[in-house]
Amino acid sequence: MEVTTHQQGQRDVPHFERKLRAKWQEVRTRAREVLLRAGNERYVQIAGQVHDVEDESLADLLVDVNLAEASRDIQEIRDIEDALRRIALGTYGTCVRCKRPIEGRRLEAFPTASRCTQCQREYEKGHPAPPPSL
Ligand SMILES: [Zn+2]
Repeated sequence: MEVTTHQQGQRDVPHFERKLRAKWQEVRTRAREVLLRAGNERYVQIAGQVHDVEDESLADLLVDVNLAEASRDIQEIRDIEDALRRIALGTYGTCVRCKRPIEGRRLEAFPTASRCTQCQREYEKGHPAPPPSL
């Protein structure tokens, strides 16, 4: 049985941090390609900045160009940045809603997950989770 804890506990956080950073690089490369493909002079100029832009400002940069194609990347970047922030705060791997540990398998599949499977399901349904019925 898993111990309920607000700590990162036994989780291999560096493992997930590596995954998140690799993902971030991937999205950044893709975002750059989207900008270059758009061909607009201003986008090309921004794409040049994407290469060495600070982590925090890439999503803002993409929002700025208001490119429909970039919206998926923007969301992904924000999710990754949020997850990295939770690592820094020491809350990574803990469900933001019920404060229970997020399933290891779920984090493995979705390193940016901020909710456990149950809470995510409830969240997607658009209404609050019922009290745990254990
Ligand atoms: Zn939860």
